[in-house]
Amino acid sequence: MSIATNNIALNLEKIRKDFPVLNREVNGYPLVYLDNAATSQTPKQVMDAIVDYYSNYNANIHRGVHSLSQEATDKYEAARKTIQQHFNAEKLHEIIFTAGTTHGINLVANGFASILKKGDEILVSAMEHHSNIVPWQILCEKTGAVLKVIPMNQEGELVYEEFEALLSEKTKMVFVNHVSNALGTINPIKKIIDKAHEYNAAVLIDGAQAAPHIKADVQALDADFYVVSAHKMCGPTGVGILYGKEEWLNKMPPYQGGGEMIATVSFDKTTYADLPHKFEAGTPNICGGIAFGAALDYMNAIGFEPIARYEEELLNYATLKLQEIEGMQFYGTSREKTAVISFNIEGLHPYDIGTLVDKMGIAVRTGHHCAQPIMDFYKIPGTVRASFSFYNTKEEIDRFIEALKKAKMMLS
Ligand SMILES: *Cc1c(COP(=O)(O)O)cnc(C)c1O
Repeated sequence: MSIATNNIALNLEKIRKDFPVLNREVNGYPLVYLDNAATSQTPKQVMDAIVDYYSNYNANIHRGVHSLSQEATDKYEAARKTIQQHFNAEKLHEIIFTAGTTHGINLVANGFASILKKGDEILVSAMEHHSNIVPWQILCEKTGAVLKVIPMNQEGELVYEEFEALLSEKTKMVFVNHVSNALGTINPIKKIIDKAHEYNAAVLIDGAQAAPHIKADVQALDADFYVVSAHKMCGPTGVGILYGKEEWLNKMPPYQGGGEMIATVSFDKTTYADLPHKFEAGTPNICGGIAFGAALDYMNAIGFEPIARYEEELLNYATLKLQEIEGMQFYGTSREKTAVISFNIEGLHPYDIGTLVDKMGIAVRTGHHCAQPIMDFYKIPGTVRASFSFYNTKEEIDRFIEALKKAKMMLS
């Protein structure tokens, strides 16, 4: 592994000024935020969009004839357009606003309850977030469909041959994350999608952890569904999108009933609105949707390629430095991975490490990372997870390593 020190195309000094929280202290130390896989920090450009909305044009959308309502509608729909362009969806109405990844997956699982039949099979990978497991288990209970698991190996990579072997005419759906939040593995989703399509199975990609690092092109991937959360990519919590191919979205019944999603309502019969509104019942997170658009604008202005290159540099640097610590055990050593490092130090509990480094101002995640099956696979209760973003620096990694060494001394 080499450390490329050239090619730093990011203006870090400028970028870090965009994130006010990076200036604060925690327990008397400057904050080092390495929990980006749980949620990312928010740049002031996104905060400005939020303040602008509430200061100048807060109104309900799609209904009012008054100017404020129209302005809010225009901005909300402009954000949908930004999102469509970002993910290269063919049609604007293939972008459904949701409350986030979990909501998007539940929406699809609910839709397929009326499509699947007893004995149908659905495949889920062994390295999914709980939100890409539990909705499918509920779907199986409702329909009598059978959930099968695509296994992974010690490196934290899916075993492609086993996936192929699981496919049959019975396979109706496949669910895989683009990137594992617990291990950082980048899965070969294009290959998986193409293979699944040979069996006419629909593929849902959980893009929550990929979206902050990789610009996905849903048409090039030929994904049937792609779900993300804004809060992992510089946007606010409680908002995200479901991309779905029009053909599938038309086959699925509405998820929730209420306002916004209807065409006409009477006590005899209600007809539903066209896409995307059919799946957008109730007053949405208007400000959140607009802020999500602002977050994408912000990240695209920096550029996903320079971001990916820089984050890889951080990953390589941190991996090398962590290897200096005796008893270091890494989980997830896939050749293709994003800047996530899951590890344990021999003899120490991840929770104790997390607690001690927090005393030195460093935020990392400890535990099962909402992916208990992965922890069971490695026969561990959890890991320490450091996850990096484009606003992190090598100096921060040095502080993290120092803190780990201190914590280790105190604990052993
Ligand atoms: C964060 C995450 C989720 C859940 O996202 P929510 O915003 O909590 O709905 C699902 N899958 C992956 C891979 C994630 O990283």
